[in-house]
Amino acid sequence: MSALSEMLDANARYAATFNLGDLSAFPRRKVAVLTCMDARLDPAKFLGLQEGDAHVIRNAGGRADQDAIRSLVISYKLLGTREFLVIHHEGCGMLGLSNEDLRRRLHEDLGADASNVDFLPFDDLDQSVRDDVATLRASPLIPQDIAILGFVYDVRTGRLREVR
Ligand SMILES: [Zn+2]
Repeated sequence: MSALSEMLDANARYAATFNLGDLSAFPRRKVAVLTCMDARLDPAKFLGLQEGDAHVIRNAGGRADQDAIRSLVISYKLLGTREFLVIHHEGCGMLGLSNEDLRRRLHEDLGADASNVDFLPFDDLDQSVRDDVATLRASPLIPQDIAILGFVYDVRTGRLREVR
C-alpha cells in the first residue's frame, strides 16, 4: 500500500468515530508551540495535547522567523493564547547546515539564485533557543505579558529540557 493510501485509510478510520466537531478554535490551554518540522517530533504526544488544546507552528528548525511571528500574533491576538513555547531539538538538521552550501547546491541543481534566502541554520542548539525566545520577546508585536519559554527536546529520550 502506498503512503498516501495508508494515510487516507487512517483518515477514514479517524472520521468514522470523530465526535469533536464542536470544538472551539480558541486553544483550551491558551498555549502556542513553535517547533521544528522534524518527523521524529510529535508535540501532541510529547506535550499531552488533544485536539483543541494548543496552536502548533512548525518550520525547519522551529525558528522565530517573520512567518512564525505572524502566526504567533494571530494566535494571541485573535485566538487568546497567553504562553509561547519555543522547542528546538537534539539532532536537528539545521544544526551545522550552511547557508552558502545550500545556496550553492540549489544553484547547481536548478540554476536558482537563493542568495536572498536565509535558511536560518545554527551551530549552538541552546543558543538558538535563547536567540528565538529573545527575538519573540523583542518583537513590538508581542506584549510583555505573554510568557515565552524555551526548551530542547531530545529525540533519543523523548524528554524536554528547559533552556534559560
Ligand atoms: Zn529540526
